[in-house]
Amino acid sequence: MKVSENLRVLQEKVKEASQRSNRDPEEIKIIAVTKYVTTERASEALECGVTHLGENRDEGLLEKWSTIGDKPTWHFIGTLQTRKVKNIIDKVDYIHSLDRVSLAKEINARAGDRTISCFVQVNASGEESKHGLTPEMVVPFIKELEKYPKIRVEGLMTMAPFTEDDTIIRQSFQSLKNLQLDIQHMDLPYAPCMELSMGMSNDFEIAIEEGSTMIRIGTALVGE
Ligand SMILES: *Cc1c(COP(=O)(O)O)cnc(C)c1O
Repeated sequence: MKVSENLRVLQEKVKEASQRSNRDPEEIKIIAVTKYVTTERASEALECGVTHLGENRDEGLLEKWSTIGDKPTWHFIGTLQTRKVKNIIDKVDYIHSLDRVSLAKEINARAGDRTISCFVQVNASGEESKHGLTPEMVVPFIKELEKYPKIRVEGLMTMAPFTEDDTIIRQSFQSLKNLQLDIQHMDLPYAPCMELSMGMSNDFEIAIEEGSTMIRIGTALVGE
């Protein structure tokens, strides 16, 4: 499938899900997750008008970055080892996987004169295999981030639990939305928390209905 065709279908579904939930489709940014595909395929996505690219490993990001450069907005969406921060920090616009103080400390130390836009990753479903903070840990963690002035919390990120049950998926997105509201009420200048990074190829429509502002789409857009 051509990326242009996939994008057209995806945009239509984004529009419909937005209408179902009385939202403006313009609020929802599509991140093309290119981790499974070649640099050529990522470039094809850019030619179709995609402006956000996401990678989950430093090797994949650096390989594509060396050809594509800084034209797109780059998102690092995978688990980030502390020792790898230095490899990616000057290449990415957003880090979606901030989940521990040691990582915050390293990002802060390597930021140079930039402020780094981060998402705090939450394990909203409590599945053991998933990374991220438990919902109870999120507020204390964000308070702790005050010590790291180069970090700005743009929002929260989650991955839905591995299940076919839409009700369970929806509940995990709702719990992320509720946490976002809690954080917004704290009124912290370094944590405006206006964004929600949630929704992948199989669950982005539910995510949009529950308030997502950034959907991370691999399979359904650029392919496996
Ligand atoms: C791979 C990946 C995606 C995209 O997954 P698809 O199901 O292929 O759309 C989104 N988010 C993260 C964190 C990923 O690792």
